Amino acid sequence: MSLVPGDGAQINPFETARKQVDIVADLIGLDDGMRAMLKSPKRELSVNFPVRMDDGSYRVFNGYRVQYNMARGPSKGGIRYHPQVSLDEVRALAAWMTWKCAVVDLPYGGAKGGVICDPKKMSKGELERLTRRFASEILPIIGPEMDIPAPDVYTDSQTMAWIMDTYSMQKGYSVPGVVTGKPISLGGSQGRGEATGRGCAYVIREAAPHAGVKVKGASLAVQGFGNAGSIAARILQDEQGAKLVAASDSKGGVYKADGINVGALEAHKAKTGSVTGFAGAKSISNAELLETKVDVLIPAALENQITSKNADKIQAKIVAEAANGPTVPEADTILFQKRITVLPDILANAGGVTVSYFEWAQDIQGYFWPLSEVTNRLEGVMVRSYNDVHKVAEEKRVHNRTAAYVLAIQRVADAIRMRGIYP
Ligand code: GLU
Repeated sequence: MSLVPGDGAQINPFETARKQVDIVADLIGLDDGMRAMLKSPKRELSVNFPVRMDDGSYRVFNGYRVQYNMARGPSKGGIRYHPQVSLDEVRALAAWMTWKCAVVDLPYGGAKGGVICDPKKMSKGELERLTRRFASEILPIIGPEMDIPAPDVYTDSQTMAWIMDTYSMQKGYSVPGVVTGKPISLGGSQGRGEATGRGCAYVIREAAPHAGVKVKGASLAVQGFGNAGSIAARILQDEQGAKLVAASDSKGGVYKADGINVGALEAHKAKTGSVTGFAGAKSISNAELLETKVDVLIPAALENQITSKNADKIQAKIVAEAANGPTVPEADTILFQKRITVLPDILANAGGVTVSYFEWAQDIQGYFWPLSEVTNRLEGVMVRSYNDVHKVAEEKRVHNRTAAYVLAIQRVADAIRMRGIYP
């Protein structure tokens, strides 16, 4: 993943998340009480914990788990390891998980976790000790019926295996359903690893005809050639005939007008650690990548990449947000005026949490599905959800993000109203 803070590094993502709720609350006329509930995280746990480093010293790390809303079910969302993690970032990501689960209609609320650390500078042993201690600290508020973590930026199936083991050791028996995104051997699901990218590719395919784009032969630029971005590109290339022309990561980007083979670029990155230096390609910056003239731009890195400063320079016909929060509200307005089709994060990257839901359902039943069943069901959820969002966008004459929020917020607000306020 490309993990460089963009132009908008100073923008507070939680302010963005709250602004997005206000836009929709005004549009659908939510009362002040409901608006306040939807703008507030339900529960926040902040932990400071020591980790023994390889050189024998101890370091104290800060981590968070925020459970934003549980009206529709247990809360769900990843854990990210990154030097720029902050409580407000985790709150925003937890809010976005709430809307994401609602827009694809999963029986979940939303949560997120994060630890301030630089995993690229830590050994595997240090990461294991950090993960196990963080898991122990948040253990009282996670569980398969309460809050279910998953991978996010710089965490993976190994991280989930350590959390599952730590939780299970405390319980005295194996609890696979406490996390998703696990290795297959521990109750992970077929297809979970590629689910975010695959879901994003399905949404692009569905939206393309409405945006005047033919996916076969369409040019693609991917900011953040990591798990989500590279897989979306691979599926768009192999299954739909699109052509990758630009890709980037935290070290920089590459551009080649007549196309870059996704598999070859993946192999180059696996070998060298970056997309930079790919033979025959011109090197470009992350900022230039965003402004490249392409049919489809896939921001698949961090928040705040498309802001009021560069939105006017975006030349793509479709912006498909594989990342969470890459576009700020002011930029949304500019992109809408430019008639660029934005496929918002809470829809475009919901394939990951959708297959997480399938994994959890399989764990709870102890009955596992073949890959074809996972893929077919994922496609069904993504196609249905795109159509739901598109219908609201047409009816209300709003852009897709607002439409997705209308759907999601109505669903969460309905659940809150039906349950009533306790006591
Ligand atoms: N971290 C992913 C996301 O932002 C997946 C979360 C999950 O599977 O729970 O959607």
